[in-house]
Amino acid sequence: MRLILLGPPGAGKGTQSQIIAERLGIPQLSTGEMLRAAVKAGTPIGLKAKEIMSAGGLVPDEVVVGIIADRIAQPDCARGFILDGFPRTLPQAAALDALMRSKGIALDHVIELKVDDTILVSRIETRAKETLAAGGTVRADDNAEALKTRLMAYYRETAPLTGYYFAHHLLRPVDGMAAIDAVTSQINTVLTGGGRGNG
Ligand code: ADP
Repeated sequence: MRLILLGPPGAGKGTQSQIIAERLGIPQLSTGEMLRAAVKAGTPIGLKAKEIMSAGGLVPDEVVVGIIADRIAQPDCARGFILDGFPRTLPQAAALDALMRSKGIALDHVIELKVDDTILVSRIETRAKETLAAGGTVRADDNAEALKTRLMAYYRETAPLTGYYFAHHLLRPVDGMAAIDAVTSQINTVLTGGGRGNG
């Protein structure tokens, strides 16, 4: 199974992809997590990405496409994978198509987590508070200013992907406003062939 989870920051992509990845026994590939690991390790990619990420901007396409190309070539991706946070721009989607075509594989579903704009800010504020309360470190981009930039980047660059995947008959919208397990069960319905997709 090869899936994309699509949705704005705070939509619950990370939460849901972890759950599905575990259930299906396939890896969750989060470009955000991979980039944060690169920043932490101080690799050349990390050095390049650090400032852009903390300001809430998008890392250049060629950087993330390179990361994903390397990652999906790994043996644990042979049975499938869940892309979380990639693609985020139309050129990234085109690069992914080319990459998959060259390997003779294809996407099964693009799951769109639909959430109201107004709830996103409060979800991200809650995540930051919970992380602090648990003694963790809040993400550099989980603050009001960076969030504004992340949302703008989402609407400008990422939201058009829903049209792209609709046109490819892959888009499966899911109500991301529901409780976590209700969202999971909607996704399960899609995966078992019962979704109201567009293809
Ligand atoms: P969220 O979806 O909560 O905004 P992520 O953890 O997916 O956060 O990503 C955090 C940051 O990492 C993004 O704001 C961006 O700077 C960078 N990033 C992650 N994935 C991509 C991508 N596919 N293209 C460009 N930048 C990316």
